[in-house]
Amino acid sequence: MNTNIDRYLLAEKAGTEGVWDWDLRSDTLYLSPRFKEFLGLPPGDPSRETNRPNDWLSLVHPEDVDWLHASFEAQMVGLSVPFQIEHRVRRADAAASAGPHWRWLVCRGMAVMDDAGEPIRLVGSVADITDRKHAEQELRRSEERYALAAAGAADGLWDWLIDSGEIYYSPRWKAMLGFEDAEIGGTLDEWFQRVLPGDLDGLRTAINLHLTGERPHLQHEFRIRDKAGQELWMLVRGLAVRNDRGCAVRMAGSMTDITARKKAEQQILFNAVHDGMTGLPNRTLLLDRIGQALDRNRRAGARPFATIIIDLDRFKAINDALGTSAGDRVLRIVAKRLDVTRRVGDTLARLSADEFAVLVDELDDAGAALEAAERMARAISRPVTLEEGRDIVLTASIGVALSQTGYDRAEDMLRDASLAMYRAKTGGRARIDVFDTNLRRQAMAAMRMEADLRAALEQGQLCLHYQPIVLLETGAIAGFEALMRWNHPDRGLVPPAEFIPLAEETGLIAPMGRWALGEAVRQLAAWQARFPRPVPLFMSVNVSTRQFRDDDIVGAVRDLLDAVPIPPSSLKLELTESLLVQDPDECRMLMQSLRDMDVRLSIDDFGTGYSSLAYLHKLPVDVLKIDRSFVRAVSTGEGNAAIVQVIAGLATILRLDCVAEGVETADEAVYLRGQCKYAQGYHFARPALPEVIERLLIAEDAHIALPAPV
Ligand code: C2E
Ligand code: CA
Ligand code: CA
Repeated sequence: MNTNIDRYLLAEKAGTEGVWDWDLRSDTLYLSPRFKEFLGLPPGDPSRETNRPNDWLSLVHPEDVDWLHASFEAQMVGLSVPFQIEHRVRRADAAASAGPHWRWLVCRGMAVMDDAGEPIRLVGSVADITDRKHAEQELRRSEERYALAAAGAADGLWDWLIDSGEIYYSPRWKAMLGFEDAEIGGTLDEWFQRVLPGDLDGLRTAINLHLTGERPHLQHEFRIRDKAGQELWMLVRGLAVRNDRGCAVRMAGSMTDITARKKAEQQILFNAVHDGMTGLPNRTLLLDRIGQALDRNRRAGARPFATIIIDLDRFKAINDALGTSAGDRVLRIVAKRLDVTRRVGDTLARLSADEFAVLVDELDDAGAALEAAERMARAISRPVTLEEGRDIVLTASIGVALSQTGYDRAEDMLRDASLAMYRAKTGGRARIDVFDTNLRRQAMAAMRMEADLRAALEQGQLCLHYQPIVLLETGAIAGFEALMRWNHPDRGLVPPAEFIPLAEETGLIAPMGRWALGEAVRQLAAWQARFPRPVPLFMSVNVSTRQFRDDDIVGAVRDLLDAVPIPPSSLKLELTESLLVQDPDECRMLMQSLRDMDVRLSIDDFGTGYSSLAYLHKLPVDVLKIDRSFVRAVSTGEGNAAIVQVIAGLATILRLDCVAEGVETADEAVYLRGQCKYAQGYHFARPALPEVIERLLIAEDAHIALPAPV
């Protein structure tokens, strides 16, 4: 053994390590002088083994001692590789008052076996690595701090010693909150007490999740008040410094002011669900709220609620007459008034230009919804004074949908409120209507019909019938009116009254009208070629208001005349009076363009519209069609009979041709003969398929008398 000790002493002198040698049979431990010095034990007699294993092991840090034991045991059962373990020891001579002063040692060792393979000794070396350990930790910490600091010079830094609870805030950290360096102390409370109460739990949780290791780092957004009491948004980032067992002992990080970014984000969010002009919630937000109300409503005992749509009547006219900026002002006033009638908790939204909606929650019954709607109607009907000192009076059409109807989806409820609103509008405006399932049935029928109509157009189910228009003088066919029919696969021939209004509403009238125009002109070309007349046969084609406004009617007619060889003057377009009143200037320009191509223009149903006769001479009109109601008055002897004369007289003065429509009897025909040039009606011929018309034309050519000559 002594030779061993000499060798150990020699080895120690050559290096910086201490040596140990544990005799398992005598359970004595040799500690070299340097090891004893590491442990703070008195040097004693270096040549004698005076120590027990416990002199060493009792000084080992409680968290490390098990590891050491485990390493010894592994060696004793024959592990061939020497162990190496870093552990902390307390110096035996340290004053108790100074608290433990832990040194870090790295200990290497292995077992020595006898011939039978039994362990007889454990031998090894130790080195003091305290400085290295501290340097490592310092490095790690400073690296972290450096990285965090580098992340943004504008950021505030903090460094929290978890055990002591001390926290360091950088001057920048304090300045971000408007404080001088000295105004904020070194406690966590200085931070947390300024966090908005609602955000505090979230921040604490985020920190804890990182401390416990569930999150790899801390990154959290929260609101805090600065010295002036202003609310700021902050982003805190941080990393824990852990001891060897992964326990967080320290945490450091940065704090970034993200108020500007948050505001921008919130603005974007706000804009996404609000209307820019009035600042009211938009359709998206309203649907969301209705959805929430529907969810609440599924619970037992929930009170009913309603969705109310308010659509201003004739708002377009206000916009057109007063300009859009006055229109916008009116809308803002209406929004404000509706907002005042709104109860707290109800949502008022703007759905489109002049359409608002209110979600009225927590109602006693359906009657309460109606009362709310009436309140809104009253609020709107108070005169609005515009800056020019002009007063305008607004009305609204209001539709109500009740939760009692039973909805699964917010969209459905809003749609039903719309349907009720439309019914209020078509029922004469300035009304309130409540949705019932009947209305939905009608709307669904209309929807189905719209789909069918679309298909009809594509699949060629539409056809034209032609009704002769005769020269009253001779009874000869002068031309035709093309009248649309729908050859429905199930319903047979559908008259236009049943599908033209829907086609106008949906805009389908534009392609339908285009088709009719082409078809009628091609038919006319064929008949003109086959049945030449001194004055060529003409064709009247109906053009609906919507088609005239929305479709490029001038272009369509020009293309058609280029492609089909008819004299343009033999094409007559029938327009209604309502078209002429709506947008006179625009209308006149279009009419003039058509007239420039020598196409003729006819006013249909003349006398039924609101228009004054005064505009007539300003428009390029060629024909007046006297409405059937005036013609009928001739035979019923009503006072209206004189109107035919007045219109006919007017036509003469303005040098317009005149067509009497719906002539059903010989008496009517006789009466009209001296006044109108043309007539059209069942008395002469019903609208019919081209084959039937052709037979009439052939008969005429053969001088066979028409069925009912005058
Ligand atoms: P409208 O332009 O006033 O057409 C005249 C209507 O009176 C036609 O009805 C015609 O069949 C009917 N009629 C003709 N003679 C008599 C008569 O002696 N007695 C009676 N009671 N009625 C007579 P129809 O074909 O049902 O068309 C109805 C309306 O549908 C048309 O009224 C027109 O406004 C519209 N329409 C028809 N075809 C088209 C089209 O191609 N485009 C557009 N936009 N509208 C069309
Ligand atoms: Ca017509
Ligand atoms: Ca007519």
